Amino acid sequence: MKKDYYEILGVSKTASQDEIKSAFRKLAKKYHPDVSKEENAAEKFKECQEAYAVLSDEAKRKQYDQFGHAAFENNGAGGYDFSGFDFSDIFGDIFGSGFGFNFGGSSRGKSRGRDKVMRVDLTFEEAAFGTKKTINLDTYTDCSECHGKGGFDEEVCSTCHGSGTVAAEQRTLFGTFMTKTTCPKCKGKGRSYKRSCSKCSGTGKVKVNKDIEVKVPAGVDTGNQQRVSGYGEYSEYGNGDLYLEYRVLPHELFERDGNDIYLEVPLTITEAVLGCKKEIPTISGTVKLTIEPGSNTGDKLRLKGKGIEDVHSYRKGDMYVVLNVIVPNKLSRDQKKLFEQLAKTDLETKEFNKFNNYMKK
Ligand SMILES: [Zn+2]
Ligand SMILES: [Zn+2]
Repeated sequence: MKKDYYEILGVSKTASQDEIKSAFRKLAKKYHPDVSKEENAAEKFKECQEAYAVLSDEAKRKQYDQFGHAAFENNGAGGYDFSGFDFSDIFGDIFGSGFGFNFGGSSRGKSRGRDKVMRVDLTFEEAAFGTKKTINLDTYTDCSECHGKGGFDEEVCSTCHGSGTVAAEQRTLFGTFMTKTTCPKCKGKGRSYKRSCSKCSGTGKVKVNKDIEVKVPAGVDTGNQQRVSGYGEYSEYGNGDLYLEYRVLPHELFERDGNDIYLEVPLTITEAVLGCKKEIPTISGTVKLTIEPGSNTGDKLRLKGKGIEDVHSYRKGDMYVVLNVIVPNKLSRDQKKLFEQLAKTDLETKEFNKFNNYMKK
């Protein structure tokens, strides 16, 4: 079982961004593997980083609140991949920027690609039961010309002599330090190329159009977003993420309110007066419903558990059948005769009293 992100940081579900940041800073200081003497510090540090990377980003936090850890499991390995996350802001002022090197090379100016949002329409049933959607998008793949290297005739980088870093003076709160920064020419690879690849302009990547398959969980509603890791904008420091924003298309008969479904059922006057058994559709098939004698327009019948499964708790919503008695506006001669006979009988009930009493005044 993966631990809850809020629990890891020790904050409430309604914590503000300031509270989240400050909780993370405290824990990061405590568990930073370079300074911590705690047991399993590295593991705990990683856990905190993952939690912070998600909760500090409002879009990802919303995702997590909606879908839990499942929000980030669509692309294989469980858990949120925070390797592209830029921690330099927060670690820069905790440890001084020299420490920045310990965090997978994330530092200012090396940010991952931006996230993208794509709108996806779902039918009422697809949203209710979940589905698989094929999404067509542009993404990047290794350039076939240079095999992803970005150039030809590899050589040791002349700027950093293969180390991938160059020395720089770093001023921090605690004084001036000599630190290493990533080599600007080879971007830390230590190797560069005599000839740059023209097909990919030296990036090693080319754009391709691709179909990807996404599993849409049962119960999503309009406005819900699902994250597909790594399909946002390209960056050599890690692609952004793609967010699929769902819109549930209207159904011919059903209306949805959260996880509940509403269905309006028309009744003839005799069905309403005499009562009847009526076949009605639900999302899980037809059911026979008993309409009591004396039913009225607006009467609401509840079918427990016949609504939509909650995407988080898997609890099912209910279905409400709302009756609508239709008064006929065209009658055959026989029908008219029957109504005329009926009119001679006393159809008034206690509901008429208030009106009648007023008229008698
Ligand atoms: Zn270099
Ligand atoms: Zn190339």
